[in-house]
Amino acid sequence: LRSELGNVERLSLVGQMAASITHEIRNPMAVVRGFLQLMKEKSPESLDHYYRIVMEELDRANGIINDFLSLAQNRISEKEQWHLHQIINDLSPLLWADANLRGQTIELMLDERVPKLNLNAKEIKQLLLNLARNGMEAMEEKGKLILQTCLVEKEQIVELIVMDTGAGMSKSRQERLFEPFFTTKAKGTGLGLALCLSIVERHGGKIKVESEEGQGTTFIIQLPLADS
Ligand code: ADP
Ligand code: MG
Repeated sequence: LRSELGNVERLSLVGQMAASITHEIRNPMAVVRGFLQLMKEKSPESLDHYYRIVMEELDRANGIINDFLSLAQNRISEKEQWHLHQIINDLSPLLWADANLRGQTIELMLDERVPKLNLNAKEIKQLLLNLARNGMEAMEEKGKLILQTCLVEKEQIVELIVMDTGAGMSKSRQERLFEPFFTTKAKGTGLGLALCLSIVERHGGKIKVESEEGQGTTFIIQLPLADS
């Protein structure tokens, strides 16, 4: 997207983003403020509930700021030789906790042949977390999320596949997925996939989506093997 836009368009895009972000951040802040007011007035028994909402909304505001900053900075990322599987394993407890709360399961199908890759571990975690969360959010209870890796030798790439058995998407929705602020969720920001795309591009990779309404969605990330 960046390379296709001239300065004027880019500035107006930043302006639009600023307006959207301001709106998105004000929402959780207003909720927090309202609940703090209630906490002052209410009996102690009801405080747990308010406390939980306040924390959730603060985390949400924080998440929006983090995603927006990573997207806006879009700088060249520092990379090191990393085992993709180590990054996945580090993230597993967090993903499982999330899945358990929803009554869902996660299956890992890791190709042992996958070698170390030139990665920014923090960004790859962010990528995986965003894709996995989207998958879980698209599924009902009992849904299954599959994380798969696969070395494709003849193309000199590693594929990272995140597959869900959720609601799926129409073609028109698939076309807009990666636009910043495109969301169909009441509390969505629409920044997750825009960030994923930018992370994959920073790694010289590609991201593809296959989806069928009512069947589920598969995201395929192709990462180049480290230069020999
Ligand atoms: P958000 O999750 O905040 O809505 P994203 O950029 O992560 O923003 O996703 C944008 C939109 O793409 C979502 O609102 C949803 O409509 C759609 N989407 C993303 N991932 C999936 C998925 N796995 N299954 C179905 N729809 C999805
Ligand atoms: Mg998301």
